[in-house]
Amino acid sequence: MSGAAGFIGSHFCDRLIGEGHAVLGLDNFITGAARNLEQLGGNPLFEFREWDVCEPLEVEGPVDGVLHLASLASPTDYFQHPIETLDVGSAGTRNMLELALRHRARFLLTSTSECYGDPAVHPQVETYWGNVNPVGVRSCYDESKRYAEALTMAYHRAHGLATNIARIFNTYGPRMQLDDGRVVPAFVDQALKGQPLTVFGDGSQTRSFCYVRDLVDGLYRLMFSEERYPVNLGNPREMTILEFAEQIRCITGTSATLEFKALPEDDPQRRRPDIGKAKRVLGWEPKVRLEEGLRETIEYFERIGSPALARG
Ligand code: UDP
Repeated sequence: MSGAAGFIGSHFCDRLIGEGHAVLGLDNFITGAARNLEQLGGNPLFEFREWDVCEPLEVEGPVDGVLHLASLASPTDYFQHPIETLDVGSAGTRNMLELALRHRARFLLTSTSECYGDPAVHPQVETYWGNVNPVGVRSCYDESKRYAEALTMAYHRAHGLATNIARIFNTYGPRMQLDDGRVVPAFVDQALKGQPLTVFGDGSQTRSFCYVRDLVDGLYRLMFSEERYPVNLGNPREMTILEFAEQIRCITGTSATLEFKALPEDDPQRRRPDIGKAKRVLGWEPKVRLEEGLRETIEYFERIGSPALARG
């Protein structure tokens, strides 16, 4: 698995190993953190290799599945590293597909709701082709994922590789980087410190937040399915960023106020997955309520403390 030390990757490793699979985790730590894999230290089913998957790689022995999660998924991170973001979606995906091909292994790509850009269709259904600015600041992420999807389908069509594509919507939970700029860690950190919650724009833009355990369950089901076209994985409960700020204030009991800041360029106005296909094809839907998931997330952030520690 690439991106094994990342937020979603590390939870996916836990799930796979919990189910008895042996996992070789790869990560170059550009955004991942060794601490996310601490719980697997000494586990005979887990092996780790520090590796940048933009470099070709070989793996000894049998490989049944290649799971490509490596990516810089936070806008703050990909604004800072646009070329690395394009590389891991293009060269990284190519190397992982080649690995799968050599071993005749199944292949899973974790793609993104960003493929829909600032969507003109709501909620987003997999058959919608999206509204992406190809030269905007988010294009390094959006377009590399769209390319990764195209490449995955090409390997399926040209080589008969058993591929799956997940389009992941906003996901949250323990092991997010506290300082990665995304709205969940940003608001939780600010609330815990009693600082104003930074709402970008007027806060009327919407998002739908899926707890990481639910998301990983969707990925696990998808990787064993025969579905070759993209499947949305996310929580359909949609709310404005202002409503979300209110939730965080309520759960943390903070008296923190709101501070309005400029809306980042090309920030999608609405986002909510249509998960009809995931329900039909995978028998999957999210189970964890936002309040419950946020409590677990807040507990985690309280435990790890400062952003400096969280980066470790
Ligand atoms: N956002 C915000 N304050 C923050 C961070 C993010 O209001 O401190 C907004 C952001 O503009 C976006 C939404 O929250 O509309 C989700 O942003 P995030 O960076 O988490 O992920 P995105 O869904 O944009 O990829």
